[in-house]
Amino acid sequence: MKCPACKRLLVEYSTPSCKIDICEDGCAGIWFDAGEFEQSKHYTVEFPRELLCVKKVLDVLIDRSKLRQCPRCDQKTMTRLVLDPETRLEIDQCPTCKGHWLDRGELAHIRREDEEITKLLERIEFHKKKLYG
Ligand SMILES: [Zn+2]
Ligand SMILES: [Zn+2]
Repeated sequence: MKCPACKRLLVEYSTPSCKIDICEDGCAGIWFDAGEFEQSKHYTVEFPRELLCVKKVLDVLIDRSKLRQCPRCDQKTMTRLVLDPETRLEIDQCPTCKGHWLDRGELAHIRREDEEITKLLERIEFHKKKLYG
């Protein structure tokens, strides 16, 4: 499969929960097949740390303003999915195969947010218990 952002070949990796494809020799984006992103976005799901912070090859430039083609279904244009309006975090989703493309650092960002929210909720629970027994 070719990278939808910089057209280099994607390299397949196995994580404990799924198989992903990484643009290791280029922009360091990650491809998730249908359902895999939903699993991997939670920080409680085991995900190899080194895959969260693959380095981008320096001279690779990507244009985020361009709509991209799905690497799985040839010539299908992916749509932008706004995950977080506040930080303007957008990922690409293929309307046909339901796969997701994440640019470098986006998964790490999403998982960290998930972690913060979970910790906050745990803290609130803890204080509630203290207050009301
Ligand atoms: Zn790439
Ligand atoms: Zn597709």
